Amino acid sequence: MNVNDDLYFRQIPLGPMQNFVYLIGSRRVGQCLVVDPAWDTNALINAAGEDGMTITGALVTHYHPDHVGGQMMGFKVPGGIAELIGKADAKIHVNKYEADGLIKITGVSENDLIRHTSGDLVEIGDVKIELLHTPGHTPGSQCFLVHSRLVAGDTLFIGGCGRVDLPGSDPNAMYETLTGTLGKLSDDVVLYPGHDYGATPSSSLAEQRRTNAYLRIRSLEEWQRMMGR
Ligand SMILES: [Zn+2]
Repeated sequence: MNVNDDLYFRQIPLGPMQNFVYLIGSRRVGQCLVVDPAWDTNALINAAGEDGMTITGALVTHYHPDHVGGQMMGFKVPGGIAELIGKADAKIHVNKYEADGLIKITGVSENDLIRHTSGDLVEIGDVKIELLHTPGHTPGSQCFLVHSRLVAGDTLFIGGCGRVDLPGSDPNAMYETLTGTLGKLSDDVVLYPGHDYGATPSSSLAEQRRTNAYLRIRSLEEWQRMMGR
């Protein structure tokens, strides 16, 4: 089977904060991983089931509750990875720099986690998902690259990028992420963000490089001016 025929990829808008959840998997084996399963676990399990797919794990872009459930800074988000583990036989794939924070915020245990380094591959059927460490919004933010699709969490949005003024954010790390790690990706990669904030739900990096100011930064000085310092 051609790898592109095997790829199962679904974008699901969910919850009151305009989040996008993703299902990524293999049609051949009928299994998928869910990216950032906050807000409504049953809805996600059912959505996969409608397509003949079973959720066998979760990929975490970063530890904010609107992506993984749990409680932080006075708000509590339903669903999430702790609830998913109770309903599906699932391991949680997280960047090693985000794991301790994830445990604190969601209450999952070390045994539930697989800690990853940048460049790791998660394979499901013939589908290979590459994990890219993209710090800035949080210390262990990661993006997922699968068949020229970039699932970017709160690192990069259509026409924007993630906030870098929150606890754990690092503007200089975001500069490296935007100009270095993401700057190396080819124009035909399609961006799938963690929130529906843009004019379209997805967009090619070629289009973003024309229109998104956060992919047009020419120097650290220019970036620091954009960040108001
Ligand atoms: Zn976030």
